[in-house]
Amino acid sequence: MQNNAEKIKLLGQWIEQSDSFVFFGGAGVSTESGIPDFRSADGLYNEKSEIPPERIISHTFFKMHPKEFFEFYKTKMVYTKAKPSVTHMTLARLEKEGKCKAVITQNIDGLHQAAGSVNVLELHGSIYRNYCIKCGRPYDLDAVMTGKGIRLGDGRFDGVPVCECGGIIKPDVVLYEESLDESVLKESVSLISNTPMLIIGGTSLNVYPAAGLLQHFRGSHIVLINKEPTPFDENADLLIQGALGDVFKEL
Ligand code: NAD
Repeated sequence: MQNNAEKIKLLGQWIEQSDSFVFFGGAGVSTESGIPDFRSADGLYNEKSEIPPERIISHTFFKMHPKEFFEFYKTKMVYTKAKPSVTHMTLARLEKEGKCKAVITQNIDGLHQAAGSVNVLELHGSIYRNYCIKCGRPYDLDAVMTGKGIRLGDGRFDGVPVCECGGIIKPDVVLYEESLDESVLKESVSLISNTPMLIIGGTSLNVYPAAGLLQHFRGSHIVLINKEPTPFDENADLLIQGALGDVFKEL
């Protein structure tokens, strides 16, 4: 049984020997940047709230209760001050060195691009792209965060960002009940099917269809780095249970 230091050393050797790898990550990649994940003990799903977060970030809830949706979204899902962690930075460097072919992420925070990664596939969209659901006009994040919305009976504004045409500005993030972008999915399948090595990190692998993409892997090495066990652990050739930062700072 190897300890984590030995496993990290082996990972370094595999990266060196391999032509390239694809990284598949989730919310755990950004916890070290100060953005909470969903399912850890201090994650969003374990906070006490009247309405479960899964319901708030669903398409139905967005349509029926936009005011409450944006209250939650702006305070719990957008972290404009977050900076890339050592994991984001190392992946960007490994891309420049020709080792990291692509990052496939379930995150919406844009931190891989902020670190300098170019080939990033955002399965669940991005907080930085927003559009009017009526006329399709694109908007930046600022429009969502500062949009006051309409004035309510008590004189306050409802905080729902609206377009000049009157339509609601919706973040281009995939809500529950919505489907993933076909072209991003297709490219992710192709990348995973053709890479010799897949490094998975910071994801509970509980969210589908994203987690289902892993079944397309045909290469020789699957590396899984996560703080907690996942349903995919037994498929890993190298399983490192620990913090991503402790691994990536050594690579
Ligand atoms: P998840 O919350 O279900 O799981 C995160 C996993 O990461 C957990 O198993 C946890 O043990 C592990 N983890 C946390 N910090 C870690 C660290 N430093 N090192 C190693 N492992 C660590 O997240 P998920 O699987 O990505 O699925 C949840 C959904 O939530 C995704 O769709 C994602 O888009 C969304 N989300 C995104 C962000 C973001 O953009 N930063 C934040 C929260 C949730």
